[in-house]
This record gives sequence, structure tokens and C-alpha cells, in this order.
Amino acid sequence: MNLVKRTINLKTTVKNSIERHPVSVLGIDYKVKIVYKNIKITELDVENRMIKISLPNRYKKMNNKEILDLAIDKMYEQIAKVEIERAMEKTRIMVGFAPEEYEIKKMKTLGKCQNNKITIHPEIVKYNRKVIDYVVLHQYCHLKHKNHTKAFFKMLEKYLPDYKKCEEILLNI
Ligand SMILES: [Zn+2]
Repeated sequence: MNLVKRTINLKTTVKNSIERHPVSVLGIDYKVKIVYKNIKITELDVENRMIKISLPNRYKKMNNKEILDLAIDKMYEQIAKVEIERAMEKTRIMVGFAPEEYEIKKMKTLGKCQNNKITIHPEIVKYNRKVIDYVVLHQYCHLKHKNHTKAFFKMLEKYLPDYKKCEEILLNI
């Protein structure tokens, strides 16, 4: 009896799961697996190289692209809070000063520095930590040098001698 039940459950699980394009987190590609479960709200788990998104059964017949994009967005935001805080603190200690405030916000660019305030795009956490640190340092340099002058790049190079490698990674994607 138990065995029969288990077989049926297995079949159901396979039938109800769909695959999605890989999602990059801190420079590592994760497969995304979607499963439908008897739950009320969407759940997201990260295990090994897999992001598992569980959706309530009632979503089964719907086009779930938007819901999935939202779940991934939320995940990026949560990781960004921790990662950007880490990079901000690391850079503050390294350069010896800090912006008046910083914000994590979606915008056209990955980073912005305006009126002593640094803004970082949450999706920066798609890239590895070195690139995240570069984008944060880049904005810190703008606190001292508004434009991309020689002095700006000199400061960037002082704290991150191979910053050009990070720029290349960002340009190539
Ligand atoms: Zn810049």
C-alpha cells in the first residue's frame, strides 16, 4: 500500500515541475526548479546548485513567469541587503570614509553616487564578490572625485590594482 502511494506521489512531482533558465548568484549559475505544492504562499529554497521555488497548487494552470520573476527579484533583494552591507563596511574600513547614506534600489545603472549618497542596484549580487566590491569602491571614489578624471582612476587603482578586470566582466555581460 505504502509503495503504491509513493509511486503515485513521485509521478505527480515530476509532472508538476518545470525548468527555467539558470539564475546567477554571486557569480555562480543556479538551476531553477519549480514545483507545485499544497501551500498558501510561494516558497524559495537554495540547495546545492539549485534554486527551488514552490508555488501553491492553485497557480498550476496559470502563466507563472511574473510570479517567478518576483520570487527571484525578492531573493536578489535579500542577498543584496547582506552583500552590499558587507562591501560597504569593507570599503569604509579600507578608504577611511563613508557616504552619508546608501540605498539599494533598481535603476538604469549598477551604481550611482549623488549628493554624498551611494545607490547600488540589487542585481549586482548576480556577480561575484570581487565585482560587487569594485562597484561599491567605484562609487566611494566618486565621493572624492565627481567625474572619471585621472585622479578618480588613480584612487580606484590604489585600492584595487586590477580594477580593469572587473570592468571587463561587467562590459562582457
Ligand atoms: Zn563612475
